Amino acid sequence: MGKELVVFWFRRDLRLQDNAGLYYALKGGFNVLPLFIFDTQILFKLDDKTDRRVSFIYNQILELDKEIQSFGSSLLVLYGDPLKLFSDVIKEYKVRTVYANHDYEPYAKERDFQIMQLLLENGISFKTYKDQTIFEKDEILSGSGKPYTVFTPYSKTWLAKLNEFYISSYPTMKFLGNFFKWSGKPVISLEEMGFSSTSEIFPLKTIKQELLDKYTADRDYPAKEGTSRLGVHLRFGTISIRVLAQKARELNPTYLGELIWRDFYMQILWHFPQVEHHAFKPDYDKIRWRNNEMEFDAWCNGHTGYPIVDAGMRQLNATGFMHNRVRMIVASFLTKHLLIDWRWGEAYFAKKLLDFDLSANNGGWQWAAGTGTDASPYFRVFNPRLQTEKFDPKLDYIRKWVPEFQDPGYPKPIVDHVFARERCLMAYKEALS
Ligand SMILES: Cc1cc2nc3c(=O)[nH]c(=O)nc-3n(C[C@H](O)[C@H](O)[C@H](O)COP(=O)(O)OP(=O)(O)OC[C@H]3O[C@@H](n4cnc5c(N)ncnc54)[C@H](O)[C@@H]3O)c2cc1C
Repeated sequence: MGKELVVFWFRRDLRLQDNAGLYYALKGGFNVLPLFIFDTQILFKLDDKTDRRVSFIYNQILELDKEIQSFGSSLLVLYGDPLKLFSDVIKEYKVRTVYANHDYEPYAKERDFQIMQLLLENGISFKTYKDQTIFEKDEILSGSGKPYTVFTPYSKTWLAKLNEFYISSYPTMKFLGNFFKWSGKPVISLEEMGFSSTSEIFPLKTIKQELLDKYTADRDYPAKEGTSRLGVHLRFGTISIRVLAQKARELNPTYLGELIWRDFYMQILWHFPQVEHHAFKPDYDKIRWRNNEMEFDAWCNGHTGYPIVDAGMRQLNATGFMHNRVRMIVASFLTKHLLIDWRWGEAYFAKKLLDFDLSANNGGWQWAAGTGTDASPYFRVFNPRLQTEKFDPKLDYIRKWVPEFQDPGYPKPIVDHVFARERCLMAYKEALS
């Protein structure tokens, strides 16, 4: 069985630099066996066998393994059900402690609970740390000790509490010599897992000062390269939130504000896990959605006859990304113009977005549908034409994704805006009366 060691389990934190749990594992006085699990509980649910996220993670795992190998160790990469795999790992190695970082999603919480129990039954401790947020769980509460459910007061308290301590980096790099020395095992291929590579070029891991300088002015215009595209790296922890928050604090408070939204929705999901399946405001679960499947298909495929909506959906389908402003427009359109359940749209985004994150996606959808925490009031129904005039005034974004928008063959609007607005107000009023 060999010498006693500890395991560091990589999950949403696929990096060596400034990684909280890894730091504590490396500093603990025992050699660290680095582990990653391709979780079949998650992978089996993905229908698309060229899923971009799987390719992204796979590339990152190979990179991480290479980096770890330069320290005389190797990443143990396993494929299967985590609980079963952990019971094998603790038979093969003399494990003293398993280290990991917190994950706030309901599935992950349940999985971690089961693994903790298995470990405890075997006399092994499970130590987890905050890593993917600046503030988590109960760290930001209102004066009455309750979680905030409105963004503005949350962000004020968040900013007031922020200091160097919370954004200092963990100096993991000094301790990487403490990895367990072994020569490794071959890493399973994507094909063996039933997937194939998308051969896609993913966004860079860095943020340029020029972007931050122009972010406030440019971020709302989908035709500009005005946002950081770091969503996927934050999602999988290939960059550190602390490093990014340090930069944002120094260079652009608007950008810092977006990172606060991210923390906000994470703590909402933590405190109110029911939002995964229900409206945050329970009365809104009474809305009688029309859920017309043909209209839903037209929306998914970018054939609604509303060019800004179609452009957004086509950008999503083609690239796995959609600009934030357009996410708001298409989500509002689906829920309010078409009266289709926000959960349908949420699920579609969850399949397609490279930066898909349960908390932000759920928060964004519930915001747009008016059912959520900080939701836009239900009577605010985005007018796609006015949104276009404001945010794509030269129609550059529309031209890029819907070049035929002025051709006679382009579909007529799937529903009239004024009619749809009235119908929406009636449906919402009925549910809330
Ligand atoms: C309906 C809808 C669904 C969304 N789904 C997701 C999702 O699945 N994953 C996701 O990360 N974001 C989601 N967002 C939020 C936002 O659209 C994306 O974070 C952003 O477009 C990602 O692009 P970027 O990295 O260039 O953003 P930037 O503008 O450069 O922002 C930097 C980072 O801040 C965070 N951020 C920015 N805006 C928000 C926000 N409103 N809520 C939470 N975090 C935010 C993200 O981590 C983002 O990467 C959604 C928004 C809406 C309206």
